Order: sequence, then structure tokens, then C-alpha cells
Amino acid sequence: MKDVIKSHIGSFIVTAVLVFTCNLLSVIHPFIVKEAVDIDFKANNIEQILIQLFLAYLFIHIILAIMKNIRNIKVNKLMARILSDIREKLFCKVLKFKMKTYNKYNSSEIYTRLTLDADNLFQLFFGTIQILVNNVIYIALMVLMMFFADINLALIGCIAIIVVAFSSFKFTRKLKFLDNKLLEKRDEENKEFSEMYNKNKLTYLYKMQKNNIKTTSKLFDEELKIRKRYIFVHHFMYPVALILEALGIYAILYYALNIDTNISLGSIYLVLFYVKECRNPLSEMFDQLEEMQTCLNSLRRINAILNEEDDEDIYVGEDAENLNGDIEFKNVYMNYGKEPVLKDISFVIKKGSKVTIAGRTGVGKSTLTNIFMRLYDIQSGEILMNGYDISKISIKSLRDNISYISQNPYIFEDTLRNNITLGDNNISDEQILNIIEYIEVKDIFSRFINGLDDIIRGTELSYGELQVISFIRAIVHKANIYIFDEPTSNIDLKTERLIQNLIDKISKRSTVIIVAHRKSTLESSDKIIYLKDGQVDMIVNKKAEALI
Ligand code: ATP
Ligand code: MG
Repeated sequence: MKDVIKSHIGSFIVTAVLVFTCNLLSVIHPFIVKEAVDIDFKANNIEQILIQLFLAYLFIHIILAIMKNIRNIKVNKLMARILSDIREKLFCKVLKFKMKTYNKYNSSEIYTRLTLDADNLFQLFFGTIQILVNNVIYIALMVLMMFFADINLALIGCIAIIVVAFSSFKFTRKLKFLDNKLLEKRDEENKEFSEMYNKNKLTYLYKMQKNNIKTTSKLFDEELKIRKRYIFVHHFMYPVALILEALGIYAILYYALNIDTNISLGSIYLVLFYVKECRNPLSEMFDQLEEMQTCLNSLRRINAILNEEDDEDIYVGEDAENLNGDIEFKNVYMNYGKEPVLKDISFVIKKGSKVTIAGRTGVGKSTLTNIFMRLYDIQSGEILMNGYDISKISIKSLRDNISYISQNPYIFEDTLRNNITLGDNNISDEQILNIIEYIEVKDIFSRFINGLDDIIRGTELSYGELQVISFIRAIVHKANIYIFDEPTSNIDLKTERLIQNLIDKISKRSTVIIVAHRKSTLESSDKIIYLKDGQVDMIVNKKAEALI
């Protein structure tokens, strides 16, 4: 965050000078009115003096209008640049998270940081800091000018300002409190609503509509109550400030007309002008001070994201060449939290073999496939590929040699082609169409009128269709090692058999590691690694060439 601010330090200084100059001019111009009020009407050159004062007044106003405009443009531009820098920094940071960091935040939290919190930060700079600095300077200059006009009147004026300020402060606090309550209620409503919306099938099946409507009405009733209190306080605040200000004005006039009658009319005008003028910047300041708490919370949350550890640079480390699938796990331990998920895992996979990982739900099969590619770090032990310790080689050289299908198929809202090639121009349409033909899934794709150019959306495809696309994607990306995490769990038996045939073909030239439960997959494997309680329970070697 500091570096973002540092990079704009020059603009900050220029903006600060403009802010100060505008305030000074705003405070000076009532002085000309004072001079006009206090003019000696018996003087000979009265016309000339009036013209001079008028011209000076006009001049200051024109300069002030121009400078205020320049100041606003400068401030807006500076703040827009800072906001854009911060958002870009945040986006890039999130894209560089370590895999385990993604588990720490859910996507709606991240979305809030990138939008709402970034906007709050903008508010902190643009609103809060700017208004606070601007108004403190403005009020200080006005108080100074009041003392310049008349010390006693200025003291009475200051008391009036403090009384009005105190009442504004109290009201603003109350309003902010109610505002926060409203926000909390909104959050609660949104959460409830999204739960109800997303679980709509459950609602219909279990006839929960009545209950849902009751919950919703209760929440909205509570919100309405808070809103009514807010409106009451809000509308009470302004008349109270006006009455207190009127009392202050009365005290000033009483002093000037009854106690010290030597004070010039111009000075009285000046003090009254400043007392009235102070009300708005003061209430704005209190508003902003309350706002600051929210903004500082956003700042803390954004900083927490920016301070997250970056994922390792994929180019750092030795460039391992031709990792062809000779793999060895030596006493590997891995945990997401405190407890290890994988414990003391050791096995060997020979290049060109087809190995199945099996075991009960939640035993750690997907975790095992993830650590092959260093998506997660292991806690202890070693994973060797062709003799290289994979924690020492560059991630790029490791992942260049692996093609992977995860258990959850991922689809981008993009063309079918791009979803399969992932932007690799070396993959031809012909290759894709050949695979579609081989696994006989032409009918699945026939509904895409524009063929590979059709834009697809994950939500509009069945889970099986998503798996077929993921499979084709993994196959067209040539690799020495293929890792498939339950690639056919939702696919019909015929297509599954064809996919298995293709996997068997691939395993003739590459190493294939597959997580599967089906008997047919287990039977066609060279080796089966059974996991139990996060450990290797049993290893079955089925073909001589795969023996350890
Ligand atoms: P399944 O057959 O259901 O796919 P699996 O054998 O693939 O299960 P894993 O997904 O590897 O199991 O999960 C192993 C254990 O680790 C489970 O207890 C799971 O709850 C936990 N786990 C998985 N992913 C994470 C994660 N990102 N953070 C924390 N715990 C996790
Ligand atoms: Mg799994």
C-alpha cells in the first residue's frame, strides 16, 4: 500500500498546495465585504474605493472558482489513479495466491475485498482524508480571521461553534450507529435470501416456502424499525443545530450592541459569517470521522490480502528435462490444517505404467494427485521424478510434463475450442475432432451449432458433459505423465469404456495415474495403490514391468 502512495507523492504535494490556497482565498474574501461595510462614507474618494473593493472581490472569486476547479480535477484524478492501482495490485495478488490461501477466503469474501473494500479505501482517501484536511485548514483559518477581527467577539463565536459542533457530533454518532445496524440487517437479509435462492429445490421439495416468507417478513420488519429511528434522528439533527447556532448569533449581537459598542459593523459581519460558515465543514468532519472506522477496517482487510504469501515463481529452480514418469514417493506427509491428511506415503511408479489410486471417500486420493504437481506443499518426505526432487526443480518444468484432470471439471465462459486448447495454438481442430470421434461423443457436441466456436457455460452443461470436455482437454495437451482424478465418474458406461480404451492407448507411451473405483479400471492397471486412513494400505502389482 505504501508503495502505491509513494509513487504519487508529487501529485499529493501539488494537490495539498491547491487545497491550502483555495481555503485561504475562501477565508479572505469576506474581509473585502468587511472593508466595504466599515467604509467611511464621508471620504472624498468613496467611489474609487468601492470600485477597488468590488474589483478585488470579483478577482478573488474568479481566481477561487478557477482554482477550486483545478483542485477538484487534480484530486479526482489522483484518487482515481490510486484506486485503480490498488485494485490492480489486489487482483494481481489474488491471482498469485498460494493454493492453500484460496482455502482461507471464500470467493464472496475476495469479491468484497476487490470491490466494496477497495471503494471504501477510495472513500478513505477521497472523502475522509481530503475532507478532514481541507476542513481543518478551513476552520483554523476562519478562527484565526475571527480573532483578527475582534478578540472578544471571536471568543463568543468559538463557544458558539463548539456548542454546535458538540451537538452535531452526538447526532452523527447516533446516525452512524443506526446506519451500521441497517448494514448488518442488510447483510443478514442478503445471506438468508441467497441461502433460500440457492437451495430453491430443497425449499420446494420440503415445502419450506411458508417458513421462508415468515423469516423474510421478520427481517424486513426489523429493518423498517431501524429505518424509522434513523429518519427521526436525521430530521431532528438539523433544527437543533440551527437553534444552537441562532443562540450563538444572538450572543454575538448582544455583546456587540450592548456591551462593547465600539466594534465595527464590518467586524460583527465577519464573525457572524465565520460562525455560520463553520457549521457545514464541522458536521462534514464528524461524518467523515465516523466513516473513517469503516474505511480503516477495509484498509486492514486489504492489507491482510496484500500481505499473503505469493505462490512460488514458476521459473525459479532447476529446469528438469524430460521428466518421463519415473516417480518415487518417500515417506511423504501432507496436511491442510494441523492434522496430516497423508501419512508416511511411499511407493514407486515406473515410467509408462498405468497406476490406479483407490480408497474410500475422503481418504486423500485427490490430495495425493495435487501434490504431484506441487499445487500444495508437502510437510516432510520427498517426491522424486526421474531422480529430481520436485521441490527443487522449477514448477514450470514439472507442470510442462503433466496433464491433469481434476475431480471437479472447470469450464470457462468461452468457446468450446478455447476451453479445450486453453489458448495453445499448436492444438489443431482436427486433433480435437479426432478424439471426439474416437470416444463417440459427436452427439453431445452436435447441439453446438457453431461447433468449436460456440460459447459454452458450465451451468448449461451436464456434469458428464463437463467431464468429457475436461478429458478431451487433458488428452490434447501432450504430456509424459497423465493424472486423471475420477475422470469418468459421471459418464455413461459406453463412453467410459471408450475413454478407458483411449487411456490404455495413452498409457503405452506415457505414465498414467488414475483415481478410480470401477472394477474395469482396477483390472486394466499395472499397479493399484490402496489408501486407508491417509496411509498406503496395500500395493498390488499386476504386471511384471511395473514391479518395484
Ligand atoms: P473423494 O473420494 O471424496 O474424492 P479423496 O480421497 O479424494 O475423497 P481428498 O479430497 O484428498 O479425499 O481429501 C482428503 C481429506 O482432506 C478429507 O478429509 C478432506 O475433507 C480434506 N481436505 C481436502 N481438501 C481440503 C482443503 N483444501 N482444505 C482442508 N481440508 C481438505
Ligand atoms: Mg477426490
